[in-house]
Amino acid sequence: MELWFSEKSTETCEFKIKVKAQIYSEETPFQKIAFFESYDFGRFFTLDGLMMVNEKDEFIYHDMIVHVPLAVNPEIKRVMVIGGGDGGTIRELTRYKHIEHIDFVEIDERVVQLCREYLPQTACKVDDPRVHHHYVDGIKFVKENKDYYDLILVDSTDPIGPGEGLFTREFYTDCYNALNDKGILINQHESPYYPNYAKEMIKAHSKLKAIFPVCKVYQFHMPTYASGHWLFGFASKELDPLIDHKPEIWESFGLKTKYYNTELHRGCFALPTYVIEQLEDAN
Ligand code: SAM
Repeated sequence: MELWFSEKSTETCEFKIKVKAQIYSEETPFQKIAFFESYDFGRFFTLDGLMMVNEKDEFIYHDMIVHVPLAVNPEIKRVMVIGGGDGGTIRELTRYKHIEHIDFVEIDERVVQLCREYLPQTACKVDDPRVHHHYVDGIKFVKENKDYYDLILVDSTDPIGPGEGLFTREFYTDCYNALNDKGILINQHESPYYPNYAKEMIKAHSKLKAIFPVCKVYQFHMPTYASGHWLFGFASKELDPLIDHKPEIWESFGLKTKYYNTELHRGCFALPTYVIEQLEDAN
């Protein structure tokens, strides 16, 4: 019998992966978690039936969420990660020796426990001594500190289920208040291609634009997410991702990356015309 994982991009279009086996599944108070072994993408896991992370393309997402802000402010020391229970974002952050403190705020401890067991490729650094685990809702945690973080990374699920509140104006305002003057917020910004995702992208951008003086969007190619064209938001109080880009300092760290590089940093903020127009419409 053939086993396939499929995820709908729209009601009439879907992405399909042939799987060797489902390894594990569990329903937590927050979501359904399932792990699979596939032919083309190695091991992967889903939350509520949606692809989260797989061994083959996770490097793209995790390079882009972490290295872009670190090349804009290479002095980042205090970081908050909201979501990201697979640990891939933490893994990339811990490569920077000068980062002192990482608050890892994941609502569902089971995601972290299961990724330790089934996805060590991403979860391998969650026990770094600089990483402080908080198994609580990021929406609440972000209210605890003011003017403190250099960087907040929102490595969330889509705006459904527990991730929904991570796309609200109130949450983005709390992030603004939690950041210091040079603070940067990177958020999971959905995709411009299919209308259902584009709607969420526009909504997120219009909320962020109303709060942050610098509000940009950058793109990357993520083969297993709907349409493959995915975005992160870059919002900050002061730092512009291109004007304040510090490639020489970033390159002096000597980090080997598989997707991110200095030329790509400059290029990823150059958006297709239809995306620029969609974002201009956001108000
Ligand atoms: N890279 C993935 C993507 O974009 O599909 C997402 C990575 S990660 C698995 C997303 C995590 O966000 C999940 O583990 C989920 O439990 C967590 N999450 C969702 N809502 C949250 C909230 N309100 N506070 C903290 N973590 C949350």
